Amino acid sequence: CKVLVSGATGYIAAWVVQNLLERGYSVRGTARSVAKGEYLKKVFAPYGDKFEVVVVEDISQDGAFDEAVKGVDAIEHTASPFHMNAVDPDELIKPAVNGTVGMLKSVLKDESTKVKRVVITSSGAAVLREEPTQLTFTEADWNTQCLEVLKKFEDEGRKNEAPNMMKYRASKTLAERSAWEFVNDPENKLRIKWDLAVLNPPFVFGPAIHEITTPSSLNTSAATFYNYVADGTKANAAGNDFLANTGTCWIDVRDLAEAHALALEKEAAGGERIIVSGGLWKWQDFIDAANDLNPLPKLSTTLPVGIRGAGKTAKHLSIYNTAKADRILGLKYRSIAETTKDTFGDYEARGW
Ligand code: NDP
Repeated sequence: CKVLVSGATGYIAAWVVQNLLERGYSVRGTARSVAKGEYLKKVFAPYGDKFEVVVVEDISQDGAFDEAVKGVDAIEHTASPFHMNAVDPDELIKPAVNGTVGMLKSVLKDESTKVKRVVITSSGAAVLREEPTQLTFTEADWNTQCLEVLKKFEDEGRKNEAPNMMKYRASKTLAERSAWEFVNDPENKLRIKWDLAVLNPPFVFGPAIHEITTPSSLNTSAATFYNYVADGTKANAAGNDFLANTGTCWIDVRDLAEAHALALEKEAAGGERIIVSGGLWKWQDFIDAANDLNPLPKLSTTLPVGIRGAGKTAKHLSIYNTAKADRILGLKYRSIAETTKDTFGDYEARGW
């Protein structure tokens, strides 16, 4: 059984590849260049010819996945830009939407396809909205707030000035929406022999196995973790109030990888969008867990301290209901203490 994993050079996807290989699947990962693929080949060398790399340079391009989808039995589509540096929102929206629809088009085009299921890594960004009151979100919720914010900026002729988080959230809402529209399109429906499952994770933390050299080359979520939990200078500059009150929901990257495998394997996941979340966090909660490590990690940075326990009493506005993931995937989640321990172990091993 062979699974295509798009964006295999990314933080989450590398763990998805590892999880699938551990389960005995063969995996074809996409990388933007041969050079980027070489690193992954080294990481997964213990699995021999069970792992292969194909180059997909730019998921925005028409037909980008036409060759990559050939001969696989299932797909994990994880590639999508996640950063806060876009000027024009289309820098995020175009690859997110074209990459997602393009993947589905490539499978549909392939008349000899053996694909049974496509799993897409969407996000809590496509679910939540920000209100001054506490809200509990389910899979019935769609984040249209980000689209409204973007439209307002666009109407005012200054779309590039929209908040970066809103640009990213819009890319995820539009990409996921376009995937469901694609599979529900009456003409496509007649021809599609596979089904779609979507995962909606919140912030993802935990150790990394993809190619990174310095803390600043970490992906967006893991880099913020480093900045506010490991790097005392940056965390202290942000201030105790920020550390105690900033945070929503999170999941360990290895649990999210497990969710990707389960979303392929569980029959009932077909046709579902599924929120996966390990629970609530504030930066202070992770800082407390870091300071509880025994022995304390030996890093080149000084650990922040903040105000111990202040995260426990802070207010949470966004909460996810994970009943569907519990029922369909039966996913178990790592704790703040375990993820913090393993993440700092990773930093130490890298000599940071
Ligand atoms: P990474 O940046 O580590 O991974 C993104 C991957 O997508 C990389 O392999 C990247 O390649 C690839 N990619 C991006 N744009 C293109 C493009 N135009 N053409 C080809 N490949 C492209 O991020 P994460 O692992 O954190 O994110 C993976 C997925 O998970 C994304 O869909 C993201 O939206 C989603 N997600 C992430 C969360 C998080 O907290 N990390 C939370 C919820 C969802 P390259 O590095 O070579 O540019």
